[in-house]
Amino acid sequence: MHNIRVTKTFRFEMAHALDGHDGPCRHLHGHSYVLDVCLLGQPNPAPQSPKQGMVVDFSDLKHLVNELIISRFDHAVAIKQGSTIHQRLEAEGFERVVPLPFQPTCENLLAHFASLIGPALPQGVSLHHLRLHETASAFAEWYASDNP
Ligand SMILES: [Zn+2]
Repeated sequence: MHNIRVTKTFRFEMAHALDGHDGPCRHLHGHSYVLDVCLLGQPNPAPQSPKQGMVVDFSDLKHLVNELIISRFDHAVAIKQGSTIHQRLEAEGFERVVPLPFQPTCENLLAHFASLIGPALPQGVSLHHLRLHETASAFAEWYASDNP
C-alpha cells in the first residue's frame, strides 16, 4: 500500500483588521484568500466500494471544508473579539462579522482551520498540511509534522 497526499484548493473573500497592528493592516481591508487542504492516506482498496482507489472523494472534502470554513468566512469580516474595530462594527450593525478569540492573521487562521478540519476527517485519512495565501505573494503553512 502506498501513502498518497491529495490536495484541494478553496477560494474565499474575507475582510479583516489587525487590532493594534503597527502598519496598514490595522485598517479594515479585504483579501482573496486561497486555501490548500492536503490530506494523507491510502487509496481505498475495496473493489466493491464506490470510493475504490480514492484516499478521499474530492467531493466529500469539498463539502466538509465548505461547511466548516467557507460558509462561515466567505464574504465575512474576521476580527478579534472585543477589539475596538469589533465594537465599532457591532455599533454600526454590520452583518457577517466573525469575532475570533485571536488576531485574524494568516498564521492564526491556519491554526484555527487545522483544529476544525483535523477532527472532522474520515477514518484512515489525516490532515497533512494547510497552506493559506493571503495575497498572490504571501502565504503561511500549517504542517502536521511541525505540530506533533
Ligand atoms: Zn490583511
